[in-house]
Amino acid sequence: DWDYILYVNDVLGGEHGGDRYLILDVLGQGTFGQVVKCQNMRTHDICAVKVVKNKPAYLNQSKMEVAILDLLNTQYDPHDQHHILRMQESFIHKNHLCLVFECLSSNLYELIKQNQFKGLSTQLVKVFTHQLLECLAVLKDARLIHCDLKPENILLKSLQSPQIKIIDFGSACHEMQTVYTYIQSRFYRSPEVLLGLPYSTSIDMWSLGCIVVELFLGLPLFPGTSEYNQLSRIVDMLGNPPGHLLDVGKQTHEFFNFAGVDAQGRKQYQLKSLEQYSQEHRTKEQPSKQYFKQTKLRDIIMEYPMSKKNPRQSEVDKEMAHRRSFIDFVEGLLNLDPIKRWSPQQAAKHPFITGEKFTGPFQPPSVPSKKTFPATPTASTAPVQSPSK
Ligand code: ADP
Ligand code: MG
Repeated sequence: DWDYILYVNDVLGGEHGGDRYLILDVLGQGTFGQVVKCQNMRTHDICAVKVVKNKPAYLNQSKMEVAILDLLNTQYDPHDQHHILRMQESFIHKNHLCLVFECLSSNLYELIKQNQFKGLSTQLVKVFTHQLLECLAVLKDARLIHCDLKPENILLKSLQSPQIKIIDFGSACHEMQTVYTYIQSRFYRSPEVLLGLPYSTSIDMWSLGCIVVELFLGLPLFPGTSEYNQLSRIVDMLGNPPGHLLDVGKQTHEFFNFAGVDAQGRKQYQLKSLEQYSQEHRTKEQPSKQYFKQTKLRDIIMEYPMSKKNPRQSEVDKEMAHRRSFIDFVEGLLNLDPIKRWSPQQAAKHPFITGEKFTGPFQPPSVPSKKTFPATPTASTAPVQSPSK
């Protein structure tokens, strides 16, 4: 469905007297179109231009991307401090919407690959995670959900410094307009989306949990081969989602059997077997291939080999302390219950991010949620301000 092929030395733009862009190189291919490296022929600045496919569905979704990036850049991050991609302008070229961005470097998947899938140092994981949390805190304030957080959508600013930017707001939506149910790339898809539940900005925090573990290990944590396999992997590692979620999920009965009621009258559920699911859905579900011999997240992380050969005992001790802190941090993000899952503001206070000594399970400061805020008795007298600020 690509009717317009881009060539190096072609020129984009210039219709209605706008700037013209000389194509220098191809940077990436995505589902929405192609991204090319360009030179603005007036200013000589280098930029990246995303040329969107000219199908109505892509065009409309990309108009949302323009609106969301414009809002984030001008209203929420005017000084470019929160690791959000900058968009310079947008224009139509031969019926294709073109988005002009600052030019960035490799994405984090490419970085992991260049590192032979061996994973990044705990220190580098921390630096990237901190920056991702800053972006996600802004998105939460704006009540925007990215909906496609993954290593391919996180780019290094340059190869010299560990500075990153979140890109690709082509799937993003407002919390009040969660119209799509089939969202997020499978490996990073949250339990509530898999189960067909209402969702909010906390789905990005689930993806973040998957991403930070992947940065550390070099391999995806839940590399599901189907929706069923994705959920099986999550349940194998973290157990069943809480009953109050399974009770209302539109997809619960796709994946789980009802298994009676407990003494308190709560419904019990059991994940369908591979055979049952395959038969019911006329698919051939394969058993999960595991990258690691350990099954518990804690063991996978603690027993992961250190990159340094023959480290001194003091270095081992220090690394293991960091890993214990990292595990506690990740567990707060990979909470199966979206209500209990940490917000970006809460996660940013964890010792793994602040660099404080980790002394035991972190209890995040509770942040009053926006939903309950007006219902509190003091709400009418207290000055009304965003509780997350
Ligand atoms: P899609 O929605 O099709 O996935 P993206 O916006 O994610 O499109 O862009 C696809 C790929 O193009 C990215 O994964 C990245 O490798 C590359 N890319 C996108 N934007 C930039 C940019 N500003 N600078 C450099 N490369 C980019
Ligand atoms: Mg993308």
